[in-house]
Amino acid sequence: MKIAVLPGDGIGTEIVAQAVRVMRALELKFELEEALVGGAAYEAHGHPLPEATLKLAQAADAVLFGAVGDWKYDKLERQFRPEQAILGLRRHLGLFANFRPAICYEQLTHASSLKPELVSGLDILIIRELTGDIYFGQPRGRRKAVDGHFPGADEAFDTMRYSRPEIERIARVAFEAARKRRNKVTSVDKANVLETFQFWKDVVTDVHKYYPDVALDHMYVDNAAMQLVKAPKSFDVIVTGNMFGDILSDEAAMLTGSIGMLPSASLDAVNKGLYEPSHGSAPDIAGKDLANPLATILSMAMMLRFSLNQPESADRVEAAVRHVLQQGLRTADIWSEGTRRVGTREMGDAVVAAITKTTTKS
Ligand code: NAD
Repeated sequence: MKIAVLPGDGIGTEIVAQAVRVMRALELKFELEEALVGGAAYEAHGHPLPEATLKLAQAADAVLFGAVGDWKYDKLERQFRPEQAILGLRRHLGLFANFRPAICYEQLTHASSLKPELVSGLDILIIRELTGDIYFGQPRGRRKAVDGHFPGADEAFDTMRYSRPEIERIARVAFEAARKRRNKVTSVDKANVLETFQFWKDVVTDVHKYYPDVALDHMYVDNAAMQLVKAPKSFDVIVTGNMFGDILSDEAAMLTGSIGMLPSASLDAVNKGLYEPSHGSAPDIAGKDLANPLATILSMAMMLRFSLNQPESADRVEAAVRHVLQQGLRTADIWSEGTRRVGTREMGDAVVAAITKTTTKS
């Protein structure tokens, strides 16, 4: 099994280093190969996704990804910006289903911005479509308006689009996932205003006919945003488009205490995947040993489960994370009175120690 390790920029290098240490502590037979991506790759090779990095990712069984981006690249032409690397990887690897579980660990209920009783026991899964929507639709660009409220003014425009097969395959993924959980899917749309999302709703309803054992409801995105903070435990699986999923999953992250706790997996049709924390490169705290590495470590656990067929090892990593939280160790983002504040590396040390203890026992 070969794993491409792409740490990227900012805190990416710090958090991926900890996930790799934890992975090595499992003593499994994997080959890990590292490559540059994002701003780091642009600096070294003039492109955020160099050919060699893409080839490595294509040849690997799974990709462990940190984060890319820094404000200093904001003025670059769009094609050279670090974020293009992640979009390029998704496109070239055919990654269309983004799994973002939002689980509130019992020990972190007080780190959430919601009341503990609202998030205690929270375990929801957001499935975001990754290849369509307004992110990739053509045409897009800037021009002089020919009509609208201000003809002749400068304007910008994007195109929102989804095809039937794109919606069908993500709907199937959501229904299958719900079957392994609590059998409920909420499809989030904006069908009251957008033709694209009326079509989304119709197609999801069609696919549901093949999954009569799973309950389906439909919710407008504005209401979903509200319900996520009002009654988050009322959800099981949420399936939605690229843009709504991007926004709702960050909202859900805060329910769990911190975005530093939220892992993610982006999968293709045969479960080859790219695994990364849901957060970005956090340039404000990069290089300061402040970043929470747990989202990346939990993403690595998802990689073990989904792409590498190692569910027991995934369980061990998740148990080790619960153990360090139980010990009261907290990075700054999840710290609260009465717990012990640790840095990125010390958090990694503690997870490695917890893993090593179970290796020694077994
Ligand atoms: P961000 O997620 O990087 O940071 C938002 C806030 O959360 C910051 O205050 C940051 O310090 C904090 N944070 C994030 N991860 C943390 C962690 N592990 N531990 C503790 N605190 C953490 O989002 P942003 O500031 O909007 O973007 C920064 C850069 O990241 C931008 O260049 C953006 O384009 C890029 N970005 C990349 C990805 C990706 O690589 N997939 C995703 C989102 C943003």
